[in-house]
Amino acid sequence: MCGIVGYIGHRLAQPVLLNSLGKLEYRGYDSCGIAVAERSLEVTKAVGRVVELSRLVAKGSATAGIGHTRWATHGAVTTANAHPHIDCRGRIAVVHNGIIENYLELRAALERDGHRFVSETDTEVLPHLIEKYYREGRLEEAVGLAVKCLVGSYAIIVIAAGSKSLVAARRDSPLVIGLGDRENFVASDVSAMLDYTDRVVYLEDGDICRVTADDVFIANSGTTVSRKVQVVPWTAEQVQKGGYEHFMLKEIHEQPKAVSETLAGRISVIEPAVTLDIEAPANPRNIVLTACGSSYHAALIGELLLTRLARVRARAVIASEFEQVEPTLDSDWVIAITQSGETADTLRATKKARAAGCATLAVVNVQGSTATRLCDDTLFVRAGPEVSVAATKTFIAQVVAMYLLALSRGTIDRKAETDLINELKLIPAYLSRLLDRESDIAQHGAYLARFTDIFFVARGINYPVALEGALKTKEISYVHAEAHPAGELKHGPFALLGPNMPVVALAPKDETYSLMQSSMKEIKARGSPVIAVVDEGDSDMEQVADYVIKVPAVQPLLSPILNTVVVQLISYYIAKTRGCPIDRPANLAKSVTVL
Ligand code: GLU
Repeated sequence: MCGIVGYIGHRLAQPVLLNSLGKLEYRGYDSCGIAVAERSLEVTKAVGRVVELSRLVAKGSATAGIGHTRWATHGAVTTANAHPHIDCRGRIAVVHNGIIENYLELRAALERDGHRFVSETDTEVLPHLIEKYYREGRLEEAVGLAVKCLVGSYAIIVIAAGSKSLVAARRDSPLVIGLGDRENFVASDVSAMLDYTDRVVYLEDGDICRVTADDVFIANSGTTVSRKVQVVPWTAEQVQKGGYEHFMLKEIHEQPKAVSETLAGRISVIEPAVTLDIEAPANPRNIVLTACGSSYHAALIGELLLTRLARVRARAVIASEFEQVEPTLDSDWVIAITQSGETADTLRATKKARAAGCATLAVVNVQGSTATRLCDDTLFVRAGPEVSVAATKTFIAQVVAMYLLALSRGTIDRKAETDLINELKLIPAYLSRLLDRESDIAQHGAYLARFTDIFFVARGINYPVALEGALKTKEISYVHAEAHPAGELKHGPFALLGPNMPVVALAPKDETYSLMQSSMKEIKARGSPVIAVVDEGDSDMEQVADYVIKVPAVQPLLSPILNTVVVQLISYYIAKTRGCPIDRPANLAKSVTVL
């Protein structure tokens, strides 16, 4: 996730690019850069926000250029890793959004041919590949040949010194052309160009496009294609929300993509196996996962997966309790989960663990964050920037990281491992299918909005999802919500059941199913309305629950990922019905940097 922009026309390129990058910053903002072209290329990059970059950009007369605001996936947040990346002779510059999964092998081959690399990014293979195929004046052809070598996702814009055009291409990452008068634009989204034009053309996967000041030529698989010109009816702010009413809803819908990015390049294709490029103790006997808030719920799922799949002793510890719960610090691997990488409680726990000599791993979404510098190594979850305060796509990505972590330790049953990995790869498609049923789930959210208290219940690996549902509901709708393991209700919470205490029960067809059914009958007997979240094809629960939400049936161990989306949407629609300020709930901050 990042923002890319290209401009060619009658204006000075630099101010246009800087202005457009500012509009794209919500997509990623750890570093940025621009390249403008006349006879030669002029590249300027900076770590930090676009304002830092604008201080460094020297005045120039170029009227064509490209720009990038980065959300690093490969390589630290440094000036060298910031885009644009250039070829050996400094004649070709590329900005890229996405992940090149086969970059290591491409890089090795290019290095054997004498190409010299200066960054740690996956992106840098692109200018070198294009250089390899480039014949003067035929940039489009070279880009076409280069992208054929790529495995992964990309939206790219390329510029060459002395050239009168930009070339753009996409696969699995968005790209749009903006049509102006004697000027044209290319960008990741239209917010970059709305100050100049509202006439746009959305590119499709496989499109390669040459853009001059006066014209746009699009080809796909070697054939010229025409794409519809559309007029954007939105303001820049609406565009940034992708047409969704809130960032939270947009980010919920970005989860299929977040999951694919988290998996990208980490599952070998031939014989399904998970390989993580992280420094880890060979045979840890005692793993502690430490985190706060939603990340702690991901840690609870990690605890169960590591214990069940990898047969390692693992436990989740709330970071602010770490010193009390782990006074002896006898763990040999401490895994700190924090979306921002700046959560003060988690950092403090991690420091204690390091001081005691434990190996440490950070599971984070933000490159260059403190946790990444503090720990021995980092597993990036690659959810892309999250704007809404309530974690959604970063949580899903953390949960997926827990599957990867557990599977990377090897399981005792190879067949089960293969099945699980194969189904994990299908999760983005299942999530999209589930998101298509949003309006159905929305009705249940609207119904629940009339209550002042809600219970979420589950058993086993879905209990952390019930906790997440209750937390989301509290955070964004200010409704009192609690999660309980279904079996615990009879030990106290039963006292609160009745018509004013609705219960959301997560009941996939796993080994807890019949116990869940019994719990739900007990709940019904005490008068609480029950909404059951069940597998598609399960018709039994309809006899037990008042309402049923169906999710695609997956292997039981993977059900938390899908059930998470249901509880997120339920909480979103409770908050929306109650008219709450969803993206910025009262008293909360996105990144909790205080103890
Ligand atoms: N994978 C590229 C990098 O790490 C692009 C990241 C982005 O989309 O911002 O530099």
